[in-house]
Amino acid sequence: MFRVTLDSLIVWYLVILLGALFLVWVAAEIFQRGRERRRRKNFVICSICEHVFEDESGQEIVTCPSCQALNERESVREI
Ligand SMILES: [Zn+2]
Repeated sequence: MFRVTLDSLIVWYLVILLGALFLVWVAAEIFQRGRERRRRKNFVICSICEHVFEDESGQEIVTCPSCQALNERESVREI
């Protein structure tokens, strides 16, 4: 018959619990990074007035809503 001690039961319970928590943490981290990357892709900083605005059109050249200057889309680096 298969014998299980209380110690091994507690160890397996902790291993399974911590493994599940680790997987949830990794999945949340991946999801958050993807969302942050998508959000940062839409941000544009005007080269004339340095106004930061969001443009979801996906066009390469966008118009600044503050000074109406045409700006080329560049990736915004994290400070
Ligand atoms: Zn501007």
